[in-house]
Amino acid sequence: MRAVDIIIKKRDGLELSKSEIDYFVEGFTKGEIPDYQVSAWAMAVMLEGMSDRETTDLTMAMARSGDTLDLTDVVPIAVDKHSTGGVGDKTTLVVEPVVAACGLPVGKMSGRGLGFSGGTVDKMESIPGYRTDLSTEEFIDQLGKIGLVLTGQSGDLAPADGKLYALRDVTGTVPSIPLIASSIMSKKIAAGAQAIVLDVKVGVGAFMETLDTARQLARLMVAIAKLSDRKAVGLLSDMNQPLGEAVGNVLEVVEAIETLHGGGPADFREHCLVVASHLLTLGGKARNVVEGRQMAESAIADGRAFKKFRLLVETQGGDVRVVDNPSLLAKPNILEVVCTERSGYLAGINARIVGETSVELGAGRAKKSDPVDPAVGIMIHHKVGDWVEKGKPLFTVFANDETKCALAVQRLLEAHTWSIEPTAPLPLFYGVVE
Ligand code: URA
Repeated sequence: MRAVDIIIKKRDGLELSKSEIDYFVEGFTKGEIPDYQVSAWAMAVMLEGMSDRETTDLTMAMARSGDTLDLTDVVPIAVDKHSTGGVGDKTTLVVEPVVAACGLPVGKMSGRGLGFSGGTVDKMESIPGYRTDLSTEEFIDQLGKIGLVLTGQSGDLAPADGKLYALRDVTGTVPSIPLIASSIMSKKIAAGAQAIVLDVKVGVGAFMETLDTARQLARLMVAIAKLSDRKAVGLLSDMNQPLGEAVGNVLEVVEAIETLHGGGPADFREHCLVVASHLLTLGGKARNVVEGRQMAESAIADGRAFKKFRLLVETQGGDVRVVDNPSLLAKPNILEVVCTERSGYLAGINARIVGETSVELGAGRAKKSDPVDPAVGIMIHHKVGDWVEKGKPLFTVFANDETKCALAVQRLLEAHTWSIEPTAPLPLFYGVVE
């Protein structure tokens, strides 16, 4: 077999066989197929697409390219959730303890912030002492003992995806739906997941800006799961405005804790209940999402979900005093409440601008090596469709630098758009792909 023939075949719009895909993935993982051929191939895939079968073969080949976790001896069914990334998306911090409190063990390897979207690892690291570098052995041991793990990626999972992603990033081939789907699913499958809830975000603050592309991505990931004997459900959820009120690491941890206590913003709480109900159903704990939702609601109402979160933090070395009293978490020097200069209906709160502003304040990174400031961020006090009276608080900026704070205020004012006519609220979900 020759790499060039595989590139030509894909360039000409033909379907690659499993052995050709295996050969290609193995070749570039070992460094035997050079970057220029991998790049040409990625562009051919970008332009010609891949069938569900080819995408599944690519996913499995990438999943097998490094370490793989087998959790079958540890849990009856290994469930996982994945969000394609958004602004204010602290869902994992609530959903995982809720689901674990309902008796469905869940171990998750999460990522750091990427661009304008936040990452679970950065959020959890704002809890002093909390470890996100568990080894594979620690991961398995903790999953067996307490039924809940929330850490960064351990081991060398799907290295082929790492290599391919780096090339896609610089060759204009990131937006290929088969390449995105196989990239996400290969990491989930390598981490041992047998049932996955995929939270595919749609809107200006998401990877997928249109409902059509988000649906294609969700459909393809669900097809990959099916063809590889796994279960998955894709939720299409809104990311035009931030989820909940808090954007920024400590602020999001506090909001997650409030939600685990039964409070928190209504949209965020509802989002978590829907995701949890699908996880409980897919994992076989609930007969359907209605029952799953009831289970999730009672785990929050009777305090079991919060207790699970507390146990998680304690087990992973975090300071539980901040979980019991979140006001002990890091605080910024500057807190600026910005009020409206007009009355009106909120027509839009651009999630991307909010996410970028939070990164500029220091909550995320411009370069991979940049440190994050846990204390900074933004609280957005309203939702699209709200009537806001002149002089009422619109948002609050939490900053550690005067200049950055002033710039953030300016950008956030621009992120809010107004209407004198009533504006419909945005839906939380646009559909479910099963
Ligand atoms: N997230 C991933 O893991 N891979 C992609 O290609 C895009 C988003």
